[in-house]
Amino acid sequence: MWMIPHTLAGVTLATKIENPSISLPLALLSHYLLDFIPHWTQTPTFFGKKSIALYVDFIISLSLGLFFALKFPFGSNEFWIVILGAALGNFLDAVRIPALLLRRDLPSTQSHSLISIAEKIHAKLDQDVKHEKEKLVFKFTKGNVWIGIGTQILTVVLCLWLLLT
Ligand SMILES: [Zn+2]
Repeated sequence: MWMIPHTLAGVTLATKIENPSISLPLALLSHYLLDFIPHWTQTPTFFGKKSIALYVDFIISLSLGLFFALKFPFGSNEFWIVILGAALGNFLDAVRIPALLLRRDLPSTQSHSLISIAEKIHAKLDQDVKHEKEKLVFKFTKGNVWIGIGTQILTVVLCLWLLLT
C-alpha cells in the first residue's frame, strides 16, 4: 500500500492501544496485513517521473504522523510513541530503500540477511508489488485500479474515524 494508509494504521495502533510493547510490534506487523489486502500502488522508485508520487505520499504521511503526534505535548513519551508507530508502520517498505537506490530494484530474496527474509515475506503477502498473477491470493483484483484505490481509501477513512472520534 501507499505510505498514507500504513502511517495511519501505525498511528492508530500507537494511539489506541495504551501499552507500547503491544502497540508498536502490532504497528510493524500491520504492514504485512495491509499489503495482504488487495490494493494498487506503483512499483517503488526514486528515479524519474514516477518518483513524484512517492515523494508526495511521503510528505503527506509525514504531516499526518506529526499532526497526530502533536496532539500530545512535543517531546513527551506519547509524542514519540505515535512517531514510532508511524515509522514502524512503514518500516518494512523503508528497508527496501538501500536496494531501490543502489540496485534500482527491490531487495534480493536470495540471501539470508534480515532484509532478505523480510522481503521474502513481503513479496509472498503483498497483493500488488511485482507479483505474478498466478501467485496471488486475490487474483481478480490485480490490475483493477478502482478496487486497489478503494481498499486504501477505506483503510484511511477507518483510521481517521478511529483517531478523530
Ligand atoms: Zn509494503
